[in-house]
Amino acid sequence: MCATNPSPSAAGRETTENDAPDVSGAPAPIVRGEPVQVSDGVYVIPDRRVELVPNVGIIVGEKAALVIDTGMGPGNGAYVLRQARRLAGERRLYLTVTHFHPEHGFGAQAFEGAATMVYNRGQRDELHRKGPAYLDMFRGLGPNIAAELEGVEFVDPDLVYDGQTEIDLGGHTAALRTVGPAHTASDQVVLIDDRVLFGGDLFETRIFPITPYFPPHDTDVDPERWISVLDQLSALGPEVVVPGHGEVTDVSLIHDVRDYLTYVRDEAGRLRAAGVSADEAAAAIDKQARDRWSAWERPEWISFTARAFYDADKRTTTS
Ligand SMILES: [Zn+2]
Repeated sequence: MCATNPSPSAAGRETTENDAPDVSGAPAPIVRGEPVQVSDGVYVIPDRRVELVPNVGIIVGEKAALVIDTGMGPGNGAYVLRQARRLAGERRLYLTVTHFHPEHGFGAQAFEGAATMVYNRGQRDELHRKGPAYLDMFRGLGPNIAAELEGVEFVDPDLVYDGQTEIDLGGHTAALRTVGPAHTASDQVVLIDDRVLFGGDLFETRIFPITPYFPPHDTDVDPERWISVLDQLSALGPEVVVPGHGEVTDVSLIHDVRDYLTYVRDEAGRLRAAGVSADEAAAAIDKQARDRWSAWERPEWISFTARAFYDADKRTTTS
């Protein structure tokens, strides 16, 4: 995603150095490949580290199957549905998405009539509130991306829950939990059989956390709360951790992301208290974090994270 729209004056800064990653030259954001079994009955179509392709989950129980995230646009949604049908046969299908962002949920229309869609209430509301603007923003990111977004229609879930709910798939249980605000206003995680955790964009493997802090357009990201959410999730003790993007791994990923966010929080607070401007603080943190997490991709997100913490600190200390 990218802050293509905010003008420098509206954002209160020059955007050139701090724009989100330029993905216009990236490969087409197409979900491809076979589902890989990562645990008993739990499959992932890996993202292959392709920009704007999510890891897609398919959990197959004795009587029903659950799909987690759709890919971006109707073509990707149709591909994911075909893969789910191949694994699930005639079993009943459910669909949920980890959060409303386009590559995670903007293929849902392919599932209409084929699956029961279950979202948390906040996520449905966030899609209503921000979906059209994100569709426009993403269309502007490059022709490959616009092509996948051709014909996107927003669909409402069949079922909406508050807080948390469970889906009994027969021999496997999926616990859907609202944990946002963090990466978005209404992030959801899905825990399968108390051992496999699908976390959406709360963590990515070897990618700097995506902080969609686009004042004044979208400031719902809550980096402070994000840290406490990661604490809750690591306390669940998952054996397998499926990030929104990047390789499937274990709980150490949650610790790594927590370490990074804590570092940026502490530095942003320290620099702000020392009278350093937001621009200078973001630049200093950007430089240090690139050195310290040199194996991670998309360092463009560092300054967004720094600004989100810097401004959150300002809001806390002036209220
Ligand atoms: Zn996201």
